[in-house]
Amino acid sequence: MKRYSLIVIGAGAAGLVIAIGAAKAGKKVLLIEKGTYGGDCTNFGCIPSKSLIASGNAAHVLKEEKKLGLDFSSNFLNGNSSLARTRRIVEEVRSQEDPVALAKMDVATITGTAIFKNPHLISVDGEEVVGKKIVIAAGSSPYIPPIQGLDKTPYLTNETIFDLQEIPPSLAVLGGGPIGCELAQAFQRLGSRVTLIHSHDQLLSREEESVQTILAEQFKKEGISLFLGKRAEEISYQNERFHIHLESQQPLVAKALLVATGRRPNVSELNLEAAGVNYSEKGIPVDAYGRTNQKHIWAVGDITGPPFFTHWAENQARSVLASLLLPFKKKLDRKQAIPRVTFTDPEIASVGLTEEEGKKIGNTAVYTVPFTRVDRALTTGRTEGFVKIITKKWSSQILGCTIVGPRAGEMLGELSLAMKAKIPLRKLAGLIHPYPTYNQAIRKAADLWLTQTVLSIFKRKK
Ligand SMILES: Cc1cc2nc3c(=O)[nH]c(=O)nc-3n(C[C@H](O)[C@H](O)[C@H](O)COP(=O)(O)OP(=O)(O)OC[C@H]3O[C@@H](n4cnc5c(N)ncnc54)[C@H](O)[C@@H]3O)c2cc1C
Repeated sequence: MKRYSLIVIGAGAAGLVIAIGAAKAGKKVLLIEKGTYGGDCTNFGCIPSKSLIASGNAAHVLKEEKKLGLDFSSNFLNGNSSLARTRRIVEEVRSQEDPVALAKMDVATITGTAIFKNPHLISVDGEEVVGKKIVIAAGSSPYIPPIQGLDKTPYLTNETIFDLQEIPPSLAVLGGGPIGCELAQAFQRLGSRVTLIHSHDQLLSREEESVQTILAEQFKKEGISLFLGKRAEEISYQNERFHIHLESQQPLVAKALLVATGRRPNVSELNLEAAGVNYSEKGIPVDAYGRTNQKHIWAVGDITGPPFFTHWAENQARSVLASLLLPFKKKLDRKQAIPRVTFTDPEIASVGLTEEEGKKIGNTAVYTVPFTRVDRALTTGRTEGFVKIITKKWSSQILGCTIVGPRAGEMLGELSLAMKAKIPLRKLAGLIHPYPTYNQAIRKAADLWLTQTVLSIFKRKK
């Protein structure tokens, strides 16, 4: 029976950071992966979705050519090759994370399902290994809602949709969270007629109302049929078509169906009872350092529950890695500071409090700059979004921000940094922002703080 100083379960975003980092530090590390190395992000998540979105966005720009003063005089679009391109990119990224690449980094691997036999002993398809310390980074899987008939249909999830050989002529998407919204728009832009069904009244429930409205308007403009506040009650598959029955409505018919109704941590296969690790269907609870109730077993990434983001999984993993290697323990970052980006067009990026959350805690101020006032946005014809920054009233300490617009995800970095480093908004007015960039909206928001504060001081003096 082989013994390791560290065993990592799951070769996704979180597990790879820990296994590679610990091996670099000279630890004897074993990484166990039951499926495809690279996990969700590389194989079925971020990488394929963003690759397909890039093709969809390019198709959209070409379609909108006349707005930019161009005319290609052709309306024919065949998006099928974008799927093959997506798979090529996945393969390229995966080749840097597979057992061959890992062996070069001194990470031993076993491919198979890890099942705990006791708190230190793990069985992988019959082979038993012992770990002094163990990290569980087993990720999450698509949640399939109990809709009548759904289990008898060949529905797609994020694990299968990127295997399609052709863009389906019509696609129904169940779920209006980030995954549903991103893929709905990408497929519509690549030639599908997309119908999106969401049980909430608004898309992207976590975001604020103004954002939800902009996105819904954009989707409608592009021809996506939205059924918000509706639940699918029954789904059947006849004559190679899905029939989706909503409450009091004619059934919707589509050639393909994507189920994107949330994620659930992969807790069931690990036999966590044998390890004595507490868990629920919401995930494995961890302390401020990422440890489970068993002090030699740590858990990181999606397995610990929402939010489900690669950057959060990696951030947790880096903290746990430090704790495993150093003589002291490092606390995990606060969940409140985790940035969120939905890669629709326009992109939606936020961190910290929304305007509504700010109002609830009180003594806050909101500074909003629409992109209609930003020269870069005017030149590119992309004026539909805004930058909104929520601060403490007088100190202008940044509590949160929401950006809607092209490259919102990239723009968010400046505000995330300011939040983390406790740089107040007023100081960003003094930072030289290159002209013309979208980030000038942030300087303009800081200018708003200056003008409003100075004005209110003058008013008081009068
Ligand atoms: C369509 C989609 C788009 C996304 N886009 C983004 C995005 O743009 N940005 C972002 O930040 N996040 C995005 N995410 C989320 C992101 O993919 C996850 O948060 C991230 O992959 C979590 O990493 P992880 O290491 O915790 O889990 P995973 O990457 O899922 O890795 C877990 C691994 O553990 C393995 N495993 C599970 N059980 C066992 C077992 N018993 N034995 C052995 N191996 C096991 C699994 O096979 C898997 O490979 C997206 C997700 C999806 C589905």
